[in-house]
Amino acid sequence: MASRSKAGTALAALREDLAGDVFAPGDAGYDEARTVFNAMIDRRPAVIAQCAHADDVVRAVRFGRELDLNIAVRGGGHSVAGMGLNDNGLVVDLRRMHGVTVHPGAGAVRVEGGATMSHLDRATQPFGLATTGGRASTTGVGGFVLGGGSGWLDRCFGLAVDNLLGVELVTADGERVRAGADENPDLFWALHGGGGNFGVATALTLRLHELPEFAIALLLYRPELGREAVRAYREVIESGPLEAGGAVLYLTGPPQEFVPPHLVGTLLCAVLVTYAGAEEDLREVAEPLLGLPHEAEVVGAMPYADVQCMIDDPPGMRNHWSAEYLTGAPDDFVDVFCALADTMPVPTGTQHVLFPLGGAVADGPAEYPVPYRDSPWAVHPFGIWEDPADDRRCVPWVRAVRERVRPWTTGAVYLNFIGDEGTDRVRAGLGAQNAARLGLLKRRWDPDNVFRFNHNIRPT
Ligand SMILES: Cc1cc2nc3c(=O)[nH]c(=O)nc-3n(C[C@H](O)[C@H](O)[C@H](O)COP(=O)(O)OP(=O)(O)OC[C@H]3O[C@@H](n4cnc5c(N)ncnc54)[C@H](O)[C@@H]3O)c2cc1C
Repeated sequence: MASRSKAGTALAALREDLAGDVFAPGDAGYDEARTVFNAMIDRRPAVIAQCAHADDVVRAVRFGRELDLNIAVRGGGHSVAGMGLNDNGLVVDLRRMHGVTVHPGAGAVRVEGGATMSHLDRATQPFGLATTGGRASTTGVGGFVLGGGSGWLDRCFGLAVDNLLGVELVTADGERVRAGADENPDLFWALHGGGGNFGVATALTLRLHELPEFAIALLLYRPELGREAVRAYREVIESGPLEAGGAVLYLTGPPQEFVPPHLVGTLLCAVLVTYAGAEEDLREVAEPLLGLPHEAEVVGAMPYADVQCMIDDPPGMRNHWSAEYLTGAPDDFVDVFCALADTMPVPTGTQHVLFPLGGAVADGPAEYPVPYRDSPWAVHPFGIWEDPADDRRCVPWVRAVRERVRPWTTGAVYLNFIGDEGTDRVRAGLGAQNAARLGLLKRRWDPDNVFRFNHNIRPT
């Protein structure tokens, strides 16, 4: 650690040099700057550098290294384990770097490292173009893409990393480098699932796809009909076109216009069929679900960017989630999945989600460190609640889901969907062989493990 006077001088110089803002404890705005999506995370960094551009990031990383501070990198702040924050260290906060430039002729988009899904989707929508994004508009593109990236479009267009064309990065030495198929290809490979381990992504370039039409069918069923709804949804996905995606989930009926008032606050089974195409085709595909007695429905064409905001969870809630990737979803699994809904804490914001992979996810490049792409289905228990007293109901329920679905799991997991579950799970999220190669690349690009507030890959 630097002496107090050296630290004070360096901090004053950082405040002076940065085009963005700097926050330290006691500064107005410090508490807002250290707030992340998960209200269970309450960390107090020594310095938060809100960078305005890539040179600010270089300056901030060098400042952190000079003072020997732990360095965390914050994008959208959606990591459930709060990996974008630390105690007593430096946070390189990218939120002000959210510029998006669409290159329709090249079928590509350049996104700055602190942009959210909303910045990305709102910029590409007017061109009728899109790429695989997360299912909430407030998630950061940086953490999402570098970790793998799964969303409503992945069965058509692949995981987000399958669409990654290039990354502009600030390394642990505070140098600016590029990674792409022809430039630092090993580093580029590592950024396809290796998360923030290799540097600060100041910009990412992603492939765009034509998406002139998008439609959804959101249906609510009484929980007694859950088994039939889950089986019907499975049928729609397994026998339908790749344009069909979405999820089936149990949740507490939210106080929203389309939910009948008597069902608000009660356990419901919901099916969302997303469709990368026209409403009439969606209706045909979703027929088995539309034909099942349901309590409410929203069916129709909707701009993709609007769908992306539809299930935004409110900030300020407590969160604990996990995920398991499955070998399949046979009837005995469906029975267990539905039975677990009976023990789900209701009413809370908790969701018990089953969503499909397959299609372009399964067919994507096998070489990247995303070992879960072969799974046809994934379970995502999503504990969300407000009252700290509910910690003791919600956290054990998420763990119980993992235990009960174990007979159907592949062992691989998508790291962006889990909190800090230990080194074995990080290995499971990368694949053993990939983990070994990533460890060697970490030694080359970040030998001191400067970037360790993530699903950490140690230098080997
Ligand atoms: C409501 C909600 C919905 C979600 N839905 C989906 C979904 O549909 N699909 C999906 O795949 N995931 C989803 N996620 C998970 C999400 O992808 C991960 O939590 C992701 O890591 C969030 O990135 P972030 O930038 O918002 O988070 P942060 O907490 O800011 O960062 C997460 C990690 O990424 C690193 N990081 C972030 N930006 C950069 C960067 N520019 N350069 C280097 N490292 C960086 C951070 O250091 C940290 O280790 C969801 C999360 C939430 C809270």
